[in-house]
Amino acid sequence: MPQKTKQTPMMEQYLGIKAQYPDAFLFYRLGDFYEMFNEDAIKGSQILELTLTSRNRNADDPIPMCGIPYHAAQGYIDTLIEQGYKVAICEQVEDPKTTKGMVKREVVQLITPGTVMDSKGLEAKENNFLTALGFDGKQYGFAYVDLSTGEFKVALLEDEDGVINECSSLQTKEIVFICDFPEEFQNSLKERLGLVLSYQTEEITNAELSFLTAELTNALEKDVAGKLLSYLSITQKRGLAHLQKAEEYQPDHFLKMDHYSKFNLELARSIRTGKKQGTLLWLLDETKTAMGGRLLKQWLDRPLIQAKKILARQEMVQSLLDSYFERVDLQDKLTRIYDLERLAGRVAFGNVNGRDLIQLKTSLMQVPQIRTLLEGINQGQWNELLLGIEPMEDLVSLIEAAINEEAPLAITEGNVIKDGFHEQLDQYRSAMKNGKQWLAELEASERQATGIKTLKVGFNRVFGYYIEVTKANLGNLEEGRYERKQTLANAERFITPELKKLETQILEAEEKSVDLEYQLFLGVREEVKKAIGRLQTLAKSLSALDVLQSFAAVSERYQYVRPTLNRKRNLNIVEGRHPVVEKVLGHQEYIPNTISMDDKTLILLITGPNMSGKSTYMRQLALTVIMAQMGCFVPAQSADLPVFDRIFTRIGASDDLIAGQSTFMVEMMEANQALRHATKDSLILFDELGRGTATYDGMALAQSIIEYIQTNVQAKTLFSTHYHELTVLDEALSGVRNIHVGAVEQDGEVVFLHKMMDGPADKSYGIHVAKIAGLPTALLERAATILQKLESESDQKSVIETAPVVEEPQQMNLFTEVSTEELSVIEALKKIDLLDTTPREALNILYDLQKRI
Ligand code: ADP
Repeated sequence: MPQKTKQTPMMEQYLGIKAQYPDAFLFYRLGDFYEMFNEDAIKGSQILELTLTSRNRNADDPIPMCGIPYHAAQGYIDTLIEQGYKVAICEQVEDPKTTKGMVKREVVQLITPGTVMDSKGLEAKENNFLTALGFDGKQYGFAYVDLSTGEFKVALLEDEDGVINECSSLQTKEIVFICDFPEEFQNSLKERLGLVLSYQTEEITNAELSFLTAELTNALEKDVAGKLLSYLSITQKRGLAHLQKAEEYQPDHFLKMDHYSKFNLELARSIRTGKKQGTLLWLLDETKTAMGGRLLKQWLDRPLIQAKKILARQEMVQSLLDSYFERVDLQDKLTRIYDLERLAGRVAFGNVNGRDLIQLKTSLMQVPQIRTLLEGINQGQWNELLLGIEPMEDLVSLIEAAINEEAPLAITEGNVIKDGFHEQLDQYRSAMKNGKQWLAELEASERQATGIKTLKVGFNRVFGYYIEVTKANLGNLEEGRYERKQTLANAERFITPELKKLETQILEAEEKSVDLEYQLFLGVREEVKKAIGRLQTLAKSLSALDVLQSFAAVSERYQYVRPTLNRKRNLNIVEGRHPVVEKVLGHQEYIPNTISMDDKTLILLITGPNMSGKSTYMRQLALTVIMAQMGCFVPAQSADLPVFDRIFTRIGASDDLIAGQSTFMVEMMEANQALRHATKDSLILFDELGRGTATYDGMALAQSIIEYIQTNVQAKTLFSTHYHELTVLDEALSGVRNIHVGAVEQDGEVVFLHKMMDGPADKSYGIHVAKIAGLPTALLERAATILQKLESESDQKSVIETAPVVEEPQQMNLFTEVSTEELSVIEALKKIDLLDTTPREALNILYDLQKRI
């Protein structure tokens, strides 16, 4: 057996440290480089496109190695983090010059996708959340934190769906499991949401941080929050003073939408591009600050459900709309406000420089004017927000007095602190500036005192400053005042106490002033650190103001109206528009549509050909509701709305959502979600439900779903369908109303009016289109005959008997020529207890059924 090479002490140290961070790239500091070894080096060199070399190349088992210069590390770290890796930074923690043997090394920070702080990739208008998850056998404890802003929240979630919804709307990149979870569940989070998985099952008490979770009363929440903090203190190993107290939130206190719906409605990410462009967020975002941008995204994720709170936001938006000039001024002031939330985080981390503090000052200097402007338009609606808008004059004057306006990026090279802030520093500086002058003056006064014209002041490296007197003149020197330093051939060099003092001042001034400046800067930073809490409160209020002015700006620009809210389940949007389609098409091009459902109307059945605007109409309603519940105005002539508790959608082609599942299965799962969880106060949007399966199958399901909604769920529902047969349902079901999309023939072409009209669509519409398309006349005549026949048959059969699905199943006679096999399928379908069928079982059943026909 080949003898294994004995490790060098350095490699031993490396391997020891690496063993503690198996799932991270270990950046091992060696002089001016970070080195990676072994597997890390092989993988790292590929990802980062570095040259792979090796240590002890000539040995039997050379060690793969690659390195990056430490000063260029950030870019490489960013790349690894972006690709979902973790990076452990291992530094020399002893000075190599003063250490014998191996220099001690330690990991000083573990950077992970959820904890990245310094990356250039950190989007200003996006949060970077780190989430944690626990489970107590009944419910899930969920916590999240944004390390850059300090935001820290906890919640209890009912089920896995709840977890996925939260993770997906927070767009978190990393999840910390605080207890054991089944592999399958972990993998599904990893694969479906692309999360990086981390583990922290132990709680490490950190006295400095434990107060953050002290007020939590629920044990599970406290556990999750505590372990999330443990994870942070272990990985970050640096100041976390900006973390805010863990705040409980309840997803139920906001308008709920699952992540399919958010995705389908393109709230924050476009389906096609995955980007913000073309989404509701993009439309609504006229925020002037990064913090406002982030808050807007949060409001969009969690619209309100308490009418009072919605009205309060509306009031503020209204007052901004009513005060044009003040609003323009406010916008101007907000533009000058820096990202105070992230600044507070960097202060806690000890990461700010002089320029940051100057920007902080500039930001704070806007606040008094913002206050004045708001007080000017305040009639009570701004009272609460004004409480948080504090000018923090103490900080302004401190920074004003201490920090140089043109401070450099570095904080260790001087020029950060202003003249006049600190006496000693001023002396050092004047020593540096006036040194020469002082020496000249000293020389002159010495010449005068001694009468020696040739006396001169000089400098050399060994002896420093001296007074040089030629031997001939030595007799003129006062006894005892001059101390001899050096003797030359024909001159002597002396030092006096005054010169000694000057020398110290001049020589040390530069070095000392830089040191002192640094100390003074740290002192100022400490003062700012004490104000982190107040800064965060101010940041919150300013962000809210920013979002509200953005609402006002958007509402004015696109002529939105203030919606009224009612408790009677009345929905009446007159001449409404889809805000994003309207923006893209232009106001002139968009055809407005009214959506009207009184308290008794539950289901609008929308028929119309493809591309006629059915799905746009449905999305328009959802977006209008969301905007209204965020407190924004809405695109319509007028709008009166109930407050919805949840929105369920099955719209568009979200086929790619769950890998490996058919469109139809996804449709059914989404339908199932809606039917099980919707309440009378929910909004359901079903677009062409049932389209994904055989006609009768789909039609039967569609009808039973409509019946089920009418009887059991009673949520307001928009149901678009191309099953013309379903339009007769309005005769039997009191809650169903038909509308259709109008189309006209113009100059030989069919033009969709994109206009909704009462009643079902014209049945012969398809033949109409075929005619325009130029199909043979004989064929068209034949089609017309068949249509007539079908129509008369269905007239004979008259209305489909409707049946409340769950209560008493009844024979359905919708179908005319049905084979026995198909009948047996229908029978089997009817027997399914929808309430007691899991999506997976449903898939199996459907699969069997489909095989039989
Ligand atoms: P459907 O769901 O009926 O197939 P869509 O809602 O997808 O149709 O709309 C088809 C196209 O018509 C879309 O590209 C959209 O831009 C346009 N459209 C829809 N509604 C309107 C409208 N009210 N005004 C103008 N264009 C519209």
